[in-house]
Amino acid sequence: MKVFIDIDTQIDFVFPAGALYAPGAERVIPKVAALNRYAAKHGIPVISSVCAHTEDAGEFKVWPPHCIVDTVGQKKPAATLLAAGQYIVEKNELDIFSSAEFVPLLERLDADECSVYGVLTEYCVKCAILGLLKTGRKVKLFTDAIHALDPQAGAAVIAEFVAAGGNLVPLPFDLQEE
Ligand SMILES: [Zn+2]
Repeated sequence: MKVFIDIDTQIDFVFPAGALYAPGAERVIPKVAALNRYAAKHGIPVISSVCAHTEDAGEFKVWPPHCIVDTVGQKKPAATLLAAGQYIVEKNELDIFSSAEFVPLLERLDADECSVYGVLTEYCVKCAILGLLKTGRKVKLFTDAIHALDPQAGAAVIAEFVAAGGNLVPLPFDLQEE
């Protein structure tokens, strides 16, 4: 089964007013929204990871507080939400594999091909794509729907992903037509 994995597209990261906004990240929102709708239309489950931090999260020693449970910034932009077929996986660390729900969910969905997009390329997207490759699954990355804080670091992650057997793919539709 193919699955789409939408990484951390949350208000605190992708909107200029967000607590840990990555400049320019808002450009991925229409693409992520269109990918999620495309998946729903084609019966492809969408796994959406979200940071859901407690106020004393370990990450806040490194990063400003963000994505605290029950705050607006922790929510996903409405355009990226689906009425059905979307599995929200909450995590308190960068890595989606830190969620105890994630691998059992992949297994339950019989996911053997994972197409990944979201933010940020050199942090949470990196953990997801390299971790998924290590599980032996086929992994695709929608490079038009990811965003890096540091473009050079993002490019290095993409190169590492390809060297490890990952595939870079274009959006499966013309955005204007969706
Ligand atoms: Zn976080």
